[in-house]
Amino acid sequence: MEIEKVLDAKMDHVKSDKVIAAVKIGSDLRYYLGKFMREQGYVEVPPVIISPLTDPLNHPVFDPVINYYGEKYSLTKSMIFHKQIMVQSFGSIFTFSPNIRIEEAERSSTGRHLSEFTQLDVEKRGATRDEIMSMVEEMITGLFRYIREKDSELLSKLGRNLQVPSKPFERIKFLDAEKQYGKDFETVLSKKKTEPFWIVDIPLQQREFYDRESDTDPEILVDMDLVYPEGFGEAISGGEREFKLDKIKERISKKGQTEEQFKWFVEFARRGLEPSAGFGIGIERLTRFICGFKRIEDTHPFPKVPGEFSL
Ligand code: ASP
Ligand code: MG
Repeated sequence: MEIEKVLDAKMDHVKSDKVIAAVKIGSDLRYYLGKFMREQGYVEVPPVIISPLTDPLNHPVFDPVINYYGEKYSLTKSMIFHKQIMVQSFGSIFTFSPNIRIEEAERSSTGRHLSEFTQLDVEKRGATRDEIMSMVEEMITGLFRYIREKDSELLSKLGRNLQVPSKPFERIKFLDAEKQYGKDFETVLSKKKTEPFWIVDIPLQQREFYDRESDTDPEILVDMDLVYPEGFGEAISGGEREFKLDKIKERISKKGQTEEQFKWFVEFARRGLEPSAGFGIGIERLTRFICGFKRIEDTHPFPKVPGEFSL
């Protein structure tokens, strides 16, 4: 019977050595990341799951909208705007934020997309991109060192030799990478490199309106992506944020979006936002990299693979 087969497959997945190892490693990495952020003086804030305000993202996803007492709310795609608003009162914040991005079904083939995932979302008032990048390098190297020791048995069972990268990580400008390796440079470079690296100075149309445009380099954003080596692809996106009302309005319109879509954020900006910078790092992608898995669904007992049935 079909349902029996599905249940068997689900049971096999939940009980598989890979999934069990990944969940244990995932538990340890959450422990380390939470401790690391606290030691850096960050406050853990609660996640936001539904809101009339969420990340527009820079690629098409199906919008999971719910009717909330007659108002249109969306499930959170990222907490970017809530982060920018919360740093006004707390200064330095982090949260393990459940995100829903209902990706196109073809994305299941990448091995690194889940429609439901968690990201460690971080934001700091008054921070520069450089400051955030240094902290990330500290965080990643510290984490890898911790996991190598704490989970050495699991890692060797998985056949994974996790290397601690050297600091500072390499920085490559988006346009230089594109010139040398073409449009698909991220994939090419990710396969070529043996340590994580940064892509910085991303052109304005390639990212969402909220990352800050450079004062000296028009159309270039003061933002960054961190990319895993060995072909594992994107790890982090982040940057300094637009915070001035006029600039936010200009950027929304340059993206062909409307102020109405982001009216709550625009209203907050009208009351005054202080500058901030931050990033988001996908926990399942991080777990996948640490475990050295081909496919991201092995990091989660109930993975939401785009286009596939899921419990
Ligand atoms: N925009 C990032 C995301 O993709 C997060 C961030 O910039 O903080 O969710
Ligand atoms: Mg993003």
